[in-house]
Amino acid sequence: MQNLENTFGEPQLAPKSDPLAMLINIILSQATSDANSERTFRNLKKRFRTWEKVLAANETDIADAIRLGGLANQKARVIKDLLGQIKAARKQLSLAFLEKMPDEARDYLQNFRGIGPKTVACTLLFACHKEVFPLDTHIFRVLKRMGILPERITDAKAHRLLDELAPPKKFYSLHVNLIRLGRKICRPREPLCEQCPLIEYCDYGLTQI
Ligand code: SF4
Repeated sequence: MQNLENTFGEPQLAPKSDPLAMLINIILSQATSDANSERTFRNLKKRFRTWEKVLAANETDIADAIRLGGLANQKARVIKDLLGQIKAARKQLSLAFLEKMPDEARDYLQNFRGIGPKTVACTLLFACHKEVFPLDTHIFRVLKRMGILPERITDAKAHRLLDELAPPKKFYSLHVNLIRLGRKICRPREPLCEQCPLIEYCDYGLTQI
């Protein structure tokens, strides 16, 4: 971990924020760049102002507002369905209570249709500073090559496993830096093992030198 921070720096978590806004932000961030997803979120807020209005809108209008970020029809369906589920469960469109919810916050969020372990973990870590570690495809690839995750493991099990392997105070730094490593060095094809700060810990990398 220290090797990663020496190479990429120590990213800092932003202050706590509204979990529902974060959750929708993360849904919008799928399969697009950070810049596009931020603009898409702003477009959605500008068009509808409140989550109540998003829930009341039809899917086509929601999709039109978020078109820029791609997969607009799919994301519109997930967002509207999610808002409907929250409203039915809580009678209001807010997830602010999650911050004070102890260990069950993850199970609670994961019960919503269409919300996977990574989205849950990102929401809880970024918005509520909960001790959960989000994995994405880059992190899966790096940790499998290193021999930390087995080749065949479910998303949910991998998330639980990582919660126990890393110190909670470093979850954010490790999450961001493993993604950076996966994008720049441990690429899907032809990883640059000779440049990798983790090579001494890596099963695959040690076979390459
Ligand atoms: S040594 Fe190679 S395979 Fe291992 S994490 Fe680094 S880049 Fe990936």
